[in-house]
Amino acid sequence: MRKYVTSVGLEVHAVLLTVSKIFCKCRSKTGSEPNEDICPICMGYPGTLPNINKKVFDLAIRVGLICNCQINRCIHFDRKNYFYPDTSKSYQITQSEMPVAKNGYFKLPSNGKIIKIERIHLEEDSAKMFHDEHDVTLIDFNRSGRPLIELVTSPDLNSFKEASEFASEISSVLEFGGISEAKMNEGTIRFDVNVSMSESDDVFGQRVEIKNLNSLESLEISIRKEEERQRKIIESGGKVKRETRRYNESEQVTELLRDKEENCDYRYFCEPDIPSICFTGMEIEAIKNQIPLLASERFIIYTEKYKLPTISAKTILSNKCISDFFDEVIKFYGNYKSIANFLLNEFLRRFKECSYKIPFSAFFFAKLVEMIDKGVVSCLNAKEILRIMFESGGDPLEIAKKFGFILVEDSKIIKEIVENILEENDKMVKDYKSGKTNVLGCIMKEAMSKLRNAQPQDIKKQIENKLNKK
Ligand SMILES: [Zn+2]
Repeated sequence: MRKYVTSVGLEVHAVLLTVSKIFCKCRSKTGSEPNEDICPICMGYPGTLPNINKKVFDLAIRVGLICNCQINRCIHFDRKNYFYPDTSKSYQITQSEMPVAKNGYFKLPSNGKIIKIERIHLEEDSAKMFHDEHDVTLIDFNRSGRPLIELVTSPDLNSFKEASEFASEISSVLEFGGISEAKMNEGTIRFDVNVSMSESDDVFGQRVEIKNLNSLESLEISIRKEEERQRKIIESGGKVKRETRRYNESEQVTELLRDKEENCDYRYFCEPDIPSICFTGMEIEAIKNQIPLLASERFIIYTEKYKLPTISAKTILSNKCISDFFDEVIKFYGNYKSIANFLLNEFLRRFKECSYKIPFSAFFFAKLVEMIDKGVVSCLNAKEILRIMFESGGDPLEIAKKFGFILVEDSKIIKEIVENILEENDKMVKDYKSGKTNVLGCIMKEAMSKLRNAQPQDIKKQIENKLNKK
């Protein structure tokens, strides 16, 4: 079989993490009811004017800085003209000539390969079309006007694996940088890929674009299928045509969408309703200083400072929410390994079941791990306590006391619970003192139910001590 060089370029579209849309005050939110977050501006009514949300510059410049780009001090918007029902103005406000950033690079962690970033620009998202079972097309304008960044790489990726690694790494950067939720399954990050094949390194073949990929799996399969398709064309003496294709997920094939448009088809011109915006070096520096720690930086801290095993560090960092939670928990209790262990086992499972929500504080989680380490509760019972915390929140020590999970070793806790029982059962105490010593059995039963892990003789001793003192 002849050898070919595959070249893949990626276009990454990510919805920026802002409260409102890019040109109006509507909420920028995933999961609203259809057409809930709309207004005349984002529906493209004639006569409306865009009002720029300045937060988008901060976030887009962050991406540019992380990707080692040149930041344009002055940026402006352009109109990309085309008609499609999901773009009701008949043009999209985007950036052509003066993007936010250009000429950067991103290093692939696995092999250190440099992937050039050609440009990063801002634009508005389009509405979303749905085709129902009666062949009727419905349009939801919630997405229309959500702020997007588009990041374009050079075709430096040479396999589906490298493309997938880049997609996954850039998603992590956007998530940890506080730039985008970057959730592929919710459409807040989407990819277009350009695939070309040639017989030598220095010539590129004709590139074919595959649009709108929203999972690593579809990205990988579509590149592999496209490689196969192009190889067949070349080997049968044909020529690969420049075109735009889409990935058919159920059939796992790429299919023709349209012949590729050229840029001139869009008749770009400067957006007259938004003035150019310029930034000083100090303003850009201030944005740089606000970039939170990225996963790669946290990884170094986790493995070198906290001495966590690589696999634990990577698993914590696979989700920003877990990593943020871990960082909070260790402020209250410094046994990093214990926290990581409990977090990655029992916590992670419950966390997934609870749709990635944590209904208790980092302080209480730290307290629970500390309780295990100090032998206040067994590891088994700690799991049960955690289950209760996920169901209804609460202080793990209180839960342990209530459900009798406290271990024997802690005589202070036995004492405390016995005292509570005696206070609540005043009559029994009086009976005991008046000679009815058989009430001791009832008190024991009550205490045993609350201290299932305590030795009966320890409980009995505490009760007798107390009763004889009173
Ligand atoms: Zn709006």
